[in-house]
Parts: sequence; C-alpha cells; structure tokens
Amino acid sequence: NVRVTLASRPRGLPSPENFRTERGPLPTAAEGEVLLQVLYLSLDPYMRGRMDDAKSYAPPVAIGGVMEGGTVARVIRSRNSNFAPGDIVLSHSGWQTYATSSGDGLRRLDATQAPVTAALGVLGMPGFTAYAGLRNIGRPKPGETVVVAAASGAVGSVVGQIAKIEGARAVGIAGGPEKCAFVRDELGFDVAIDHRAKDFNAQLALACPDGIDVYFENVGGPVAEAVFPLLNDFARIPVCGLIAHYNNEPAEGVDRLPGFMRAVLRKSLTVRGFIQREFADQRPDFLSEASAWLADGRLKFREDIVDGLENAPEAFIGLLQGKNFGKLIVRVSE
Ligand code: NDP
Repeated sequence: NVRVTLASRPRGLPSPENFRTERGPLPTAAEGEVLLQVLYLSLDPYMRGRMDDAKSYAPPVAIGGVMEGGTVARVIRSRNSNFAPGDIVLSHSGWQTYATSSGDGLRRLDATQAPVTAALGVLGMPGFTAYAGLRNIGRPKPGETVVVAAASGAVGSVVGQIAKIEGARAVGIAGGPEKCAFVRDELGFDVAIDHRAKDFNAQLALACPDGIDVYFENVGGPVAEAVFPLLNDFARIPVCGLIAHYNNEPAEGVDRLPGFMRAVLRKSLTVRGFIQREFADQRPDFLSEASAWLADGRLKFREDIVDGLENAPEAFIGLLQGKNFGKLIVRVSE
C-alpha cells in the first residue's frame, strides 16, 4: 500500500516537503468491512485548510496522518453483504492506493450512466456546491447578471452553466486566454475575462453594463475588489471559497471592513457563507437534475487527470496556483 501523509504544516504555499510518501502492507478487511483499491483521487482546494491546525469547520489532518480526500474505488474483497467484489464506489479513503471501509458513506456508482470520475466533479461535491449555492443563496432571475471566478474549474464551470439554464447572463473570470476561450466557447458563458489582464477591472465593468446581481464568491483577492463596486442593490453573494487567501499569513494593512459594511448596508446586499454539506438533503434533487442536464448536453465538464499518486502533492500545489485546467483528479490505478 502506498500512502501520502502530512509531514509538516505549511506556511504559505505548501511545498513537496510538507508531504511524505510511505509504503506499507496491504490493509485487511475485518468482518463487516470491504477492501478498496483506489482508482481515482479528487484534489480539492479545501485540503489546504486541512493542512493547518487552525480551528475550522472540519478537523485538521494530523501530522503523520493520511491526507484526506474523496475517491472512486473498486471493491476487491468484501466481508460486507451490501457490497460485492467489482463494485465501483464513491468513498472518502484519502491519498492512498488501498483502504478498508465499514461501508458507511460508500455510494455505488453506475459506470454506464456517466464516467465514474464525474462523481468527483460535475456530479459530485463540487457540482453540488455550485447548485446549492446558486439555488439557496444566489437565486438568479432571468436576465440578471451572474459573475463567477475560477470559471473553468470544478465549481465555477457549473455555476455559470446553471445560471444560463436559469435564464441569467453568465460572466466568467478565469486565468489566461485558453481557459477564457473554453469558458466562453465550450461552456457557453456570455463573456469570459482573464483576471491577469492589465485592464481586468475595465473589462469586467464593460462585461456588466447592467451591474452584477449575483457574485458567486470563489476566490476573494483582487477579483472580489473589482466586482464590489459593480454590485447592484439587493445583489446576492454566496461566499463559497476564498482561494486567493488560502496561503496567506494574517497581514497588517488598511482596514477595508468599514467600506465593505457600508456597501452591504447601502446596497442591501446579502452576503452568505456556506459549506455545501449544510444542504445535504438537496443532493438527490441535484443528482437527478444534473444527470438530466448532462444527458441533454446543457451541462458540460472538463477534467484534468494526472497519473500516479506520487504526483498528487505537485498537482495539489499547482491547483492553488491555477495550474489545473478543469476538475483536478489523480489516476491512482487502472
Ligand atoms: P478549481 O477547479 O476551480 O481550481 C482552483 C482554481 O482557482 C484555479 O484553477 C484558479 O483558476 C483559481 N485560483 C487560484 N488562485 C487564484 C487567485 N489567487 N485568484 C483568482 N483565482 C485563483 O477549484 P474548485 O472548483 O474545486 O473550487 C473553487 C472554489 O470553491 C474554491 O475556493 C474552493 O475552496 C471552493 N469550494 C467551496 C465549497 C463549499 O462547500 N463552500 C465546496 C467546494 C469548493 P484560474 O486559473 O482560472 O484563476
């Protein structure tokens, strides 16, 4: 068994030294358990938070502990009557090649319905995050303008496409011309803007002639600062992620909070943070709607698949810098 553990807690951007690759014996399934061979590992921004020991909505990974993560796995031995060898399941077995499970929380996947990797992205936690944040907080109306950054990624790509399905205008923000072309031409957003362009703020204002009604917050940083002056009265801001800040050390600086709160008051803004699992009871609705959109071509997705568990640390560090193009997944075994 190969596993990637947390060797030390990063300061700022993680480095390869924060991870350790270890080899050990194959785990054995006890009575009631299954033995899983991991096929695919999902890499997600939240894992940066688990590397810190600051208080958060979920406990940190311990030093020496296996890095946490969602996986698609094959049951290779079963001592649990609910699963048979050969079953493909969605699990949360972390950064390792084999794992045991009691069966709790495993979901059987049907490879004839959609590629099994979709369960980690468009039909999985990130897709559901987009759906839940828009449905419950963003609530776009036809003709309104929805802005989302990291628009070629796992969450953002679904946000813009659902906004379009709801009849809204979708403005995507992404890093670089290639990602922008994909967001516009393949995903069907109305406009895509490169946040690294020198005149980004001016381009964003031009792309939103009627202001912004929903800002689906994925990144924070300079993108959020460009968005804020363009918000309309009664705009809704689902605060989903702040990836531009995940590697930041707390810094001294100008206090922008009073200006922000003034805007919240004067424009009657709704700013609402959420963690997707809060809306877990809506997952069945999401799965049936999103599967139908996938089948009729209204929902498209792109995956960025990296080969080999040993390459997971580097790929994860790249994710925090925008080096992935689409939902980032590691192929752990064939
Ligand atoms: P992505 O697949 O979108 O990958 C991350 C992307 O973030 C990068 O590709 C990059 O895209 C962008 N990015 C990174 N650094 C910056 C920066 N400094 N400024 C602007 N953009 C940056 O990841 P996900 O779709 O999985 O996650 C998107 C967001 O959603 C994250 O903030 C994540 O934490 C959050 N999230 C929240 C959940 C919740 O329950 N609240 C659940 C799941 C995700 P580009 O090159 O285009 O800039």
